[in-house]
Amino acid sequence: KKKPADFDPTMVAYWEKGERVPFLFLSMAFDLISNEKGRIVITDIVCNMLRTVIDFTPDDLVATVYLAANKIAPAHEGLELGIGDASIIKALAEACGRTEPQIKSAYKQKGDLGLVAQASRSSQSMMRKPDPLTVVKVFDSFRLIAKESGKDSQEKKKNRIKALLVAATDCEPLFLIRLLQTKLRIGFSEQTLLAALGQAAVYNEIHSRPPPNIQSPLEEAAKIAKQVFSILPVYDKIVPALLTGGVWDLPRTCSFTPGVPVGPMLAKPTKGVAEIVNKFQDIDFVCEYKYDGERAQIHYMENGSVEIYSRNAERNTGKFPDVVSAISRFKKSSVKSFVLDCELVAYDRVQKKILPFQILSTRARKNVVVSEIKVDVCIFAFDVLYLNGQSLLHEQLKVRKERLYDSFEEEAGFFQFATAITSNDLEEIQKFLDAAVSSSCEGLIIKTLDRDATYEPSKRSLNWLKLKKDYMESVGDTLDLVPIAAFHGRGKRTGIYGAFLLACYDETSEEFQSICKIGTGFSEAQLEERSSSLRSKVIPEPKSYYCCDIKPDVWLETSEVWEVKAADLTISPVYSAAIGIVDPAKGISLRFPRLVRVREDKTPEQATSSEQVAEMYNAQKHNQTNNEDDGEDD
Ligand code: ATP
Repeated sequence: KKKPADFDPTMVAYWEKGERVPFLFLSMAFDLISNEKGRIVITDIVCNMLRTVIDFTPDDLVATVYLAANKIAPAHEGLELGIGDASIIKALAEACGRTEPQIKSAYKQKGDLGLVAQASRSSQSMMRKPDPLTVVKVFDSFRLIAKESGKDSQEKKKNRIKALLVAATDCEPLFLIRLLQTKLRIGFSEQTLLAALGQAAVYNEIHSRPPPNIQSPLEEAAKIAKQVFSILPVYDKIVPALLTGGVWDLPRTCSFTPGVPVGPMLAKPTKGVAEIVNKFQDIDFVCEYKYDGERAQIHYMENGSVEIYSRNAERNTGKFPDVVSAISRFKKSSVKSFVLDCELVAYDRVQKKILPFQILSTRARKNVVVSEIKVDVCIFAFDVLYLNGQSLLHEQLKVRKERLYDSFEEEAGFFQFATAITSNDLEEIQKFLDAAVSSSCEGLIIKTLDRDATYEPSKRSLNWLKLKKDYMESVGDTLDLVPIAAFHGRGKRTGIYGAFLLACYDETSEEFQSICKIGTGFSEAQLEERSSSLRSKVIPEPKSYYCCDIKPDVWLETSEVWEVKAADLTISPVYSAAIGIVDPAKGISLRFPRLVRVREDKTPEQATSSEQVAEMYNAQKHNQTNNEDDGEDD
């Protein structure tokens, strides 16, 4: 069994067996983690903390895991805290008997409301001490806060936050506030949490023994926990199953379920047709049109109900009532349930042609009424993940395609299969790419058919390659980046921002790393629009999780994701992207970045990762030689 390091408070339960887990216990674990850098040590701390909860109060494991993931529900349920800084400031002022201006000025100084809360609470004495917070109390309050709606909802939310703050002691206020802001950011990712969860079950010898032939049970347990979460991202299901059957049983007890979306499989960029033919020399592959619309996972349940989920597992059913009402028309009568992976694309049914993404983005996002729809969409189906009660994720694409073609019927302009060819002839593929582009597609997606061709949820796999028409003239793929700061405009841009500082996201350290300054690619109207949307996001100091050596005019809270095209990537002494991956001390920056569009479907944490930036840099030819940046901005 694992021994604690010298002294590890996460191994010491100071409450009675069966009693609720104190929130302070979890906060102490957060505090320990925030002082560590190494992934192995952090995994151990989380694992120890979970083991203690499993030993003493297993009933609280679901709430503990949710809070550690900084979530209150599975993504597809769409339950969000929805609290702005203003409500927190109000609650904080009331909880510690200070005024709002006092809290605001402390915030300005410290740049972190969590730290303000911590300092304010410890300076306050209480006549009557409220009951100590428990993990379940905090989790339940968070869910109630999220569910408040209607006229007085802001006031009610504030009062609930206040009640929590009044009861918080020690380091609890700091983590309470960060959790409320959904910015825990103590340097551990959900993947680490899952690994720790799998390992905790092994250490605590829950139920089953490891199956035979497993070399490293801990590694295997971590892998299983991550895999199971990728096909059923619901802790309310996984945690109880883990507690009763152990980790080895999870793949059997927690399987892909219609109504719960899986993360979509993603593609890696490739530079040209020659590279594809080279990469897939002895492997059969299919080339498909890459449609420029919105990724959708359509779930059709046995009772006839339909749900549509976005790339982010958001419930988009209310946005596409036309798709919902039409979908049953395209399935053959033998089909009772299915999950389709497809792209919804704006379509002109009179001219019989695909319309650009910009047209699709003019559709309303919520509560759309069929009779008011002005932009029609066609479903371009390219995969089926579930059919008649059976998950097809483990099947090769060749089999999934056959099932797709056998189970649905096309209707032009409403439901079509993605146009595809199987060929390994360079010229033929080049022609197909040209045809895709002239049909208003972005390029091609190339997928392995019968080797390494299972569906890998949420993975950016080498078994799916994307080839975009404009790769040849730029870096390769576009990047999705987050504005973290801005510069005041001059001349005719006076009064708005003239340029922005963009960052990629490092998944391991949970940092936003600066990558370039951008001031081109905007129309004046766009610049004004972005400026006014970001003006409300100004913060006094850079966040502790910004990795950036540049001094802008104003710092911004992360909120938007911008798709950006660039001429190339260079090693830079000034920018921090992917620092330590390609060069030990220098980062990577973009030359001549131009704004393509705002990505409404991505959150800042889904921005291009520093690992992807490093991969793009490495893929660039001749990068070792004459490509060193002199530190000047473009
Ligand atoms: P990411 O790779 O991060 O998803 P992205 O959202 O910018 O980046 P791209 O990398 O440009 O998307 O391409 C992948 C997307 O292409 C898919 O998520 C899907 O929405 C779309 N797509 C269009 N046609 C297809 C197809 N035939 N097969 C798979 N995906 C397709």
